[in-house]
Amino acid sequence: MAAQDVYQKLQRHLDKMPVGFPATESGVEIRILKHLFNPEEAEIALNLSALSEPLERIHRRVKGSGISIEKLEQVLDRLVEKGAIMGGKMLSGKTNGKYYSKAQLAIGMFEFQVDRITREFAQDFFQYMDEGFAEEFHRKKTSQMRTIPINRSLTPEHHVGNYDDARQLIMNSSGPCAVINCICRQSKDLLDEPCKLSDIRETCITLQNIAEVCLDSGMGRALTKYETLELLDRAEKVGMVLQPENNQNPLFICCCCGCCCGVLTSVKKFPRPVEYFHANFFAEVDPDLCEGCETCLERCQMDAISIMDSIANVNLDRCIGCGLCVTTCEANAMHLKEKEKGSVPPKDHDSLYKKIMMERFGPWRMFKMMVNMSLGRKI
Ligand code: SF4
Ligand code: SF4
Ligand code: SF4
Repeated sequence: MAAQDVYQKLQRHLDKMPVGFPATESGVEIRILKHLFNPEEAEIALNLSALSEPLERIHRRVKGSGISIEKLEQVLDRLVEKGAIMGGKMLSGKTNGKYYSKAQLAIGMFEFQVDRITREFAQDFFQYMDEGFAEEFHRKKTSQMRTIPINRSLTPEHHVGNYDDARQLIMNSSGPCAVINCICRQSKDLLDEPCKLSDIRETCITLQNIAEVCLDSGMGRALTKYETLELLDRAEKVGMVLQPENNQNPLFICCCCGCCCGVLTSVKKFPRPVEYFHANFFAEVDPDLCEGCETCLERCQMDAISIMDSIANVNLDRCIGCGLCVTTCEANAMHLKEKEKGSVPPKDHDSLYKKIMMERFGPWRMFKMMVNMSLGRKI
């Protein structure tokens, strides 16, 4: 197969993931693939499924090409090492076998480039966000991440579900906890657009089995629960938005900024960013108390606040209920209000992705995929 064809085929294969990989006019997505796969690796990746499968099953699929199982294992392990596909302990857990699957671009291949991303990759990633991937990543129905309020912006009057309470999420998680560097900020550093909020790069809190994988690979630094809570406090102080995985038992909580975060920077370009966030709160100003000091305006990462006639005004099309504006309002004029129709996130990681897939493909295609999977075919 001609090299260009194999990359185009791989783009279409990855586009079948829960979060797709759409083609663009500029072909920037092909450049992204070329950063991660050589033509031989791309051809092998065409045989991976969206759900993890044992090495032996993948080999049955490709052995017509004459490749030995040992060589296949070598190529797949190299791709895992490069962060191009999923594998290793993340999929095999405590079993002895080896499992692999294709990966989404985000959350996936992009995040796996932490501590080694190149300027060219970073450039292509943000270009791709602008040219099509943002529409794919952000979902009006169910998205991969949600926003929760910082704890100090909540009061006893709020009916806060445990899934909206960052400290509870950490305390209730079975552990371990680890922190890794922020790939978005590392990318922006390479593009000479360093974070305007902070020099801190360790801002991605990982939990449970993702933390284990990060610790095993040397990518993460272990934290006690107490240290993890301290990290949340630091994020609040600096003014970072908390974005956990969108479920009740998240495997990560990201501490994000409106200048670097791929999620926030891209959604900010939409006319009504709020439609893409599963947030249960929004900010409200008491005009009688507001002194027009503009502290909240600086603090808001979503450009949701303006000052009119010396009084702060919250644009509810942009407010994602992060609570950052509340804790620094010395006049006590800013508060978080609960939405009348709050949403309860999916139970866990697996139910989140099942829901995303069901919404993307519909019940009939999902059924066909399940049948294919049970017959050992790739999906
Ligand atoms: S989502 Fe937020 S914390 Fe996570 S990598 Fe991006 S900016 Fe960093
Ligand atoms: S920080 Fe408080 S007092 Fe200052 S402008 Fe904002 S709402 Fe008004
Ligand atoms: S106005 Fe801005 S800072 Fe305040 S809760 Fe909304 S998004 Fe967060």
